[in-house]
Amino acid sequence: MLDEKLKKLTKFMVFRSDEYFIGMNKIKNVLKSIKIQHCKIADKDHEDEFRVFAHVGCKKDTICVSKYIQSLDDCNIYGILAHEIGHIIDLQHEDIARYVLNYNDYNYDGMKGFGDEVMADFMIDALFDLHIYYDEDKIQTLAISPGAINQIF
Ligand SMILES: [Zn+2]
Ligand SMILES: [Zn+2]
Repeated sequence: MLDEKLKKLTKFMVFRSDEYFIGMNKIKNVLKSIKIQHCKIADKDHEDEFRVFAHVGCKKDTICVSKYIQSLDDCNIYGILAHEIGHIIDLQHEDIARYVLNYNDYNYDGMKGFGDEVMADFMIDALFDLHIYYDEDKIQTLAISPGAINQIF
């Protein structure tokens, strides 16, 4: 079920991407290669801190999720997945991250100073015009109707 949501979200991102951006083909390839896996560390992280459901870094181009993510609404699940995709682009594909910032007239090292969390959301905003906000539980939420993504197949 999560695999399917990831597939729909990455397809939606490709659909929203700016064809004129020079690094877009690379980004499309990254999006296609992203996988999702259950990770016990993610379960433990969530037990320690309620708002944490996922992370990256265990394996390249892979989002680790906790089993608890299943209990969330689609707008949160898509928000979390989008945020983690932002981390993958920023942390595991620095060449792309640099393109994105230069294309948007931002200084890479200057933006890096705002930290990984800001960078992750910035990547998604800049590349796909998708805004991630934080709900009352401080959980990532995608500011678009999940129905728009769910209908992609
Ligand atoms: Zn992990
Ligand atoms: Zn994060």
